[in-house]
Amino acid sequence: MDLRLSDEDLELKERARAFTENVLFPLELECEEHDGLSSSSLDAAHRAVLDAGFNAINHTREDGGQGYDLLQQILIEQEWGKATGALWDIPWRPSIPLARATAEQKERYLLPSCRGERRDAYAITEEHAGSDPSMVRTTARRDGDGWVLDGTKWHVTAGDVADFLLVHAHVDGDPRLATVFFVDKDLPGVEVVRTPKYSHTFVFEHPIFALEGVRVSSEAVLGEVGSGYELTKEWFVEERIMIGARTMGASTRALDLSLAFANERVQFGDPIVSFQAVEFMLADMAAQIMAATSMLYRVGWQAARGHTDRKELHALASAVKLVCSETAGRVADAAVQIHGGRGYMREQPVERLWRELRVDRIWEGTSEIQRTVIGNELRKRGADVYTGWV
Ligand SMILES: Cc1cc2nc3c(=O)[nH]c(=O)nc-3n(C[C@H](O)[C@H](O)[C@H](O)COP(=O)(O)OP(=O)(O)OC[C@H]3O[C@@H](n4cnc5c(N)ncnc54)[C@H](O)[C@@H]3O)c2cc1C
Repeated sequence: MDLRLSDEDLELKERARAFTENVLFPLELECEEHDGLSSSSLDAAHRAVLDAGFNAINHTREDGGQGYDLLQQILIEQEWGKATGALWDIPWRPSIPLARATAEQKERYLLPSCRGERRDAYAITEEHAGSDPSMVRTTARRDGDGWVLDGTKWHVTAGDVADFLLVHAHVDGDPRLATVFFVDKDLPGVEVVRTPKYSHTFVFEHPIFALEGVRVSSEAVLGEVGSGYELTKEWFVEERIMIGARTMGASTRALDLSLAFANERVQFGDPIVSFQAVEFMLADMAAQIMAATSMLYRVGWQAARGHTDRKELHALASAVKLVCSETAGRVADAAVQIHGGRGYMREQPVERLWRELRVDRIWEGTSEIQRTVIGNELRKRGADVYTGWV
C-alpha cells in the first residue's frame, strides 16, 4: 500500500502553506485587534487569492473553479486552517450546491462567484430550527410566475460580504417541500435584523436576516422544489470534511508552537519540555493529530478515486468532523496550558486557535448530531463503512 502523496499534491500543499504564511498570517493581528480587516487589506488579500489561483477550489473547471479533487481540497484547507481570525474564509468557495444550478443560474451566480465578483451565504438556521431543519418556518408561496418568501435566518456566515443568499425555505410551510432559493440581498424586503458578536474573531460577520414579502422569480429555485434537504446535505458533507481539514491544520500549528515554546521556556533551571508532564501533553497532541489526520486523508483519498458513493461520503463526513473537531479542541486546550499565562493572551496564536476552534464542535451539525448520523448508519448498514477498508 503506497500512502505517499503524489508530487503534484505535495506541490499544491506547499503552495497553500506559502499562501497561508505570506498572505494570511500577516493579517492575523489586524483582524484580532480591529475585529475584522480594513477594506484595503481585504482588497489586497482578494487579489492575492486570484494571483495564487486559490479561488473556488471546490468547483470544476467548466464551472469556473480550479477542478481540484477532494484530497487536494483537504490539503489546501488544512494549510489555510492554520490561520486565526477565520482568515481561511477569505479565499472564497462558492457553496457546492451551486453546481446543481441551471446554465442561466450559473451564468448569473456561480461563474461570477468563482471569479470573486459575487459571493453567496447559506441560510438554513432559524431561531426555532437548528439541529432539526424540519422546524424551519421560512415559507415560500407561489405568486403569479414567481415566489414570495417570508422568514428570519440566523447565524448567516459571511452574510455581511455576500451579495446573495441561498435560502432554505418550506414551500407553503410544508417541510416535504423544502427548497433552496436564490435571494439577492438588494431585493426589497431583505433586511439585516442585527449582527451579533460571537466568542471567536471571524474576518466576516454572521448577521440575522429578515425576509419580509421578498419577491423572487420562478428562476430563483436552485435544483427542484422539494430538493432542499438533498442540496443542504451536499453542503453539509463538503463543509464537514473541510472543517476536518482546517481543524487539523490548526491543531498542527498549535502543536508546532507548543513544541517550540516548551523547548525555549526555562523554569526551575530547565526547558519545560524536559518535564514529563509537559512532554506527555505534547505526545498526546502529536498522536491524536496523527490519528485524526490519517482518517481525514483516507476519506479524501477514497472520495478522490471514486471509491465512495454519496451516501457513504455523508456517513464518513460525520465521523471526520466529529473526530477532527473534538481532537482539535483537546489539542488547543493543551497548547494553552503549555504556554501558561501567555497562552491566555489574545496576541498569542494558541489563544486565538483555542477560542476559535470551539465552534467547530457546534456548526454544520453539533458533535451530538454527528454521532446521531453515525448511529443511524450503523443501524441501517452496519459498521463496515467505518471499520472496513477499500
Ligand atoms: C458562528 C456560527 C456560524 C454559523 N453559520 C451558519 C450558516 O452560515 N448558515 C446556517 O444555516 N447556520 C449556521 N450556523 C448554525 C449552526 O449550524 C447551528 O448553530 C447548529 O447546527 C446547532 O443548532 P442550534 O444552535 O439551533 O442548536 P440546537 O439544535 O438547539 O441544539 C442545542 C443542543 O442540543 C443538542 N441536540 C439537539 N438535537 C439533539 C439530538 N437529536 N440528540 C442529541 N442532542 C441534540 C445539540 O447537540 C446542542 O448541544 C452557525 C452557527 C454559529 C455558531
